[in-house]
Amino acid sequence: MQNKLNELKELFLSEIKNTDSQENLEILEKDFLWKTGKLKEILKGIKDLTPDEKKIIGPEANKLKVFIENEISEKSKKLEEEKFAKMEEDEQIDVTLQFPSKDKGHKHPISITSNLLEEIFISLGFTVEDGPQVEVEEFNFDKLNIPDNHPARDVWDTFWISDEINNEKESGTKNLLRTHTSPVQVRTMLKWELPIKIVVPGRVFRYEQEDARHTCNFYQLEWLVVGEKVTFGDLKGTLETVMKKLLWEKTELRFRPSIFPFTEPSAEIDVSCQICQWTGKVKWKKCSMCSATGWVELLGAWMVHPKVLEDCGIDSEKYSWFAFGMWIDRIAAQRFGVSSSRMFYQSKLKLNEQF
Ligand SMILES: [Zn+2]
Repeated sequence: MQNKLNELKELFLSEIKNTDSQENLEILEKDFLWKTGKLKEILKGIKDLTPDEKKIIGPEANKLKVFIENEISEKSKKLEEEKFAKMEEDEQIDVTLQFPSKDKGHKHPISITSNLLEEIFISLGFTVEDGPQVEVEEFNFDKLNIPDNHPARDVWDTFWISDEINNEKESGTKNLLRTHTSPVQVRTMLKWELPIKIVVPGRVFRYEQEDARHTCNFYQLEWLVVGEKVTFGDLKGTLETVMKKLLWEKTELRFRPSIFPFTEPSAEIDVSCQICQWTGKVKWKKCSMCSATGWVELLGAWMVHPKVLEDCGIDSEKYSWFAFGMWIDRIAAQRFGVSSSRMFYQSKLKLNEQF
């Protein structure tokens, strides 16, 4: 029987040497140690031995069993280490390796226009400010003189954050996607010392029917000046300078009186349409950008209502505040001769690659 145990050990050693996976190791363990395995098979003969022989073979068999178990355990660890070493080698990333790039990316027409506007305003002494796209109701509406149930809220209907989150909150603290960049004006007023001279470019959202000039999200740029003796003439002069630099020297501006809830007086400002060259027609068809009028509404301008100033802790007797908001998308369409600003959001490479 001792010979049988020695032969089994030799057989086991030769087989484990050629075992190269965890799966085969399990098969080997089953083959040698399990109830139906080779060791058990040999031990079935132990009952025929004399008591003295049993005293020798019993411990020997047990020693072989422990030996096989240890060998399998060691081999298992070794296989695992080899597997991870191989994975490390195969999946190694050479961060210094450079692949030649066939197509280089470039800026989107809206980004180009926005950056250009920022540059022009910085050259005129303005600071560029930023704010969150998910805003609180108070900054988007209440502090701008648009309380709950005000009709202007219908005009600026927007996307609100889910009811499960907003229902927990009190009125004024509910979250929404900002409808304009004006909340940044409020934020700036509350934290900055006067005078203030900023521009705020950014993405805004409206719950709106889409057409050539309207999209449910678009880019806006607001200008804000708060100081002593600021007049509508300052606003007009700045605007003309900016639009002529941005579009072309012969650009004409048209100021129309208007009503905004948080402003007084207010004006809507149209720019002569570059798409149809002020004729209202493109290749004998009606120009969709200006609805064949020759004018495109690009801006809204206003002197801020004294109540808004007071709500932000500013002495409305001493200081005046001028602001305007412009549609960057529409300006980009005018600048690049694109007939509908909606096309900028349709991910058409053929269009974007031209700029
Ligand atoms: Zn036109």
